[in-house]
Amino acid sequence: MATLMDGKALAAKVREQVASEVAELGSVGLATVLVGDDPASDIYIRRKHEAAGETGMTAVDRRLSADTSQDELLEVVRGLNADDSIDGLLVQSPLPDHLDETMTVEAVDPAKDVDGLHPVSAGLLALGRPKLVGATPLGIMRLLAEYGIEATGRRAVVVGRSNIVGKPIAALLLQANATVTICHSQTDDLARHTLDADILVAAVGVKHLVSTDMVKVGATVIDVGMNRTEDGLFGDVDPGATERAAYMTPVPGGVGPMTIAMLLQNTVRAARLRRRALAASR
Ligand code: NDP
Repeated sequence: MATLMDGKALAAKVREQVASEVAELGSVGLATVLVGDDPASDIYIRRKHEAAGETGMTAVDRRLSADTSQDELLEVVRGLNADDSIDGLLVQSPLPDHLDETMTVEAVDPAKDVDGLHPVSAGLLALGRPKLVGATPLGIMRLLAEYGIEATGRRAVVVGRSNIVGKPIAALLLQANATVTICHSQTDDLARHTLDADILVAAVGVKHLVSTDMVKVGATVIDVGMNRTEDGLFGDVDPGATERAAYMTPVPGGVGPMTIAMLLQNTVRAARLRRRALAASR
């Protein structure tokens, strides 16, 4: 039976650490921008602000109506870029259809890019010189470290290739010396790959896509999936896989709480990097 990796407990520890760093730095600011009234996005933003408030961080919650134009959105982003009290800035996705995600992400100052989505952040990660990396992949690496799971020499399989989870976690695992395979919707015979994984990360968005018999005995399974249905919240991996895995993250209570905690840690990191850059330029 797998050891369940307790993201809730670890996230509480990370948030405590963040709170002491915020106190040490004096002031740290996080700004979020939400366009429209998507209920799931509203929940995520509320949770981020609650957690930020508990650490003593200043959190700015910019809400824009669903009919905001691209120019208006860019103007808000530029204003927050220029605001010196803001260290971390993210625009919640998905944006309404008429808005351009790429243009919006590229407008965020890379020094404040706590989602790690700007091409500068993604490029540095790809080059093995990460500066700001998205909170979910960082949270996964922190969970692996906490449970003493070594990546060096292990086979890691990531299912999903999104810019927010799949690609950056694959890059981090590669940097940690795993041999990494990335699978996606066009992958032929998914089970052949997943059965080979010592470390399996599922970031797909399909309830229980990874069935128990697709998991290698003794594997570490990281379930990123958050699939909301009328019956509750489900991961991408069948919970029965705990019978075969050595370690597994539960849904809920695994990766989800880590994402919020690492966003706050990222904001502190951005604050430190910005202060260092400012001091160096004087
Ligand atoms: P995306 O929709 O952006 O990406 C999904 C990926 O899964 C794509 O690369 C897609 O392939 C791939 N995929 C889809 N169907 C299959 C299939 N049948 N077999 C193999 N691969 C498939 O999702 P995200 O990365 O944003 O999110 C993934 C999941 O993680 C969601 O449930 C989301 O809610 C959750 N999530 C959870 C977070 C947390 O904190 N716990 C944070 C962020 C996301 P292709 O590229 O070919 O289309």
